[in-house]
Amino acid sequence: MNKHQSLIQIDDYAKYIGKDSVARIKEKARPFRNLHVTHVNSTYYGGGVAELLSSLSLLMNSVGVRTGWRMIQGSPDFFSITKKMHNALQGGKINLTHRKLQIYEEVIYENSIRNHLDHDVVIIHDPQPLAMIDHYKKKGPWIWRCHIDLSNPNPELWKYLTPFIEKYDAVIFSIKEYKKRLKTPQLFFMPAIDPFSIKNRELSKEEIDERLCHYRIPTDLPLVVQVSRFDRWKDPEGVIQVYKLARKKVECTLVLLGDVALDDPEGEEVYKSLLKQQEERIIILSRQDTALVNALQRKAAVVFQKSIREGFGLTVAEAMWKGTPVIGGDAGGIRYQIEDGINGFLVSSINEAADRLVKLLKNKKLREQMGKKGKETVREKFLMSRLLEQYLDLFSSFETVYRLKA
Ligand code: UDP
Repeated sequence: MNKHQSLIQIDDYAKYIGKDSVARIKEKARPFRNLHVTHVNSTYYGGGVAELLSSLSLLMNSVGVRTGWRMIQGSPDFFSITKKMHNALQGGKINLTHRKLQIYEEVIYENSIRNHLDHDVVIIHDPQPLAMIDHYKKKGPWIWRCHIDLSNPNPELWKYLTPFIEKYDAVIFSIKEYKKRLKTPQLFFMPAIDPFSIKNRELSKEEIDERLCHYRIPTDLPLVVQVSRFDRWKDPEGVIQVYKLARKKVECTLVLLGDVALDDPEGEEVYKSLLKQQEERIIILSRQDTALVNALQRKAAVVFQKSIREGFGLTVAEAMWKGTPVIGGDAGGIRYQIEDGINGFLVSSINEAADRLVKLLKNKKLREQMGKKGKETVREKFLMSRLLEQYLDLFSSFETVYRLKA
């Protein structure tokens, strides 16, 4: 293995979480060396789940758990239905016709034929592959990990999904507010970020300037940034309105950066609708460029994540880790990330958001204070090492039922 092929090891986290924590995690992993685990989701890129899995699957391997990552395939029809399900789980409406359910179940069946999931542990992410469990004889625990904001799911859809969910051995939601009446045991894991990834690692001033210059993003005025899939729940329209109000009081440039995930067919349409609002100081970019995300989150004076629904905002943790103050929508998991007025601001309206933005833009000291506290919050609570440890604890809890230890 040459030096370019070395992977991040749990020991690399010692500088953030301390040697004792690293030793504890390694000890917990020891009984699961050679355990065969797979994660299954519906996209390799775009969105928080793919982001998480690309780091978590490697970190699990680094402690000896043989962990893979599968992706289900489907026609645009299928992803249009699963996106509707996603929206309805976040409280939107859905017309659950027989035809839609037939397409969903057929594509799931086809995927179950293609994927031979005979692992010791199977972890299924989000609703897209949820129903696969119907087609397997379980060899070990199956876990459903739902990343969506489930504070107010559509009852009809929830009723349809429940029999699938209850076949699982455990369900993981992001926060305890999403707890449901289910026969299956429920756990709560908040997601986490990888401080070593291209998106989050330190960047020099030159590297930051190079990325911004490459996309002709002006840096003469403070940058206000939102990085998000183009999705209405992320309220990009609202961010533009906030910006227009705030710039009457303080000069700044707005950048909305988004990408379009494979499993999100609505992204293109949302992006196009936003383009009408593009002007010299309102920059709307659709790019797949993780180094650009990093550079923008570092260079920004303020980062927004003005979501109306949000299971947990990885982008919030990413910006906080970079010492940039975040204004987040007072919704879902963001409430667990931002302590209002301490390490960022939580907002519920356009006016409130504009007020907080002006306040931050006018006060460098406040930005620095909040940024520093935000970074500390992420170090304490939202690094990948914590998530790994929670999964190891979960594997331990199955010990008596499935004899998982090697
Ligand atoms: N992201 C990205 N490029 C973009 C937009 C988003 O890399 O143009 C990443 C972002 O940095 C984060 C993830 O996609 O890591 C989004 O996760 P989040 O939990 O914020 O939202 P989700 O898309 O899962 O709803």
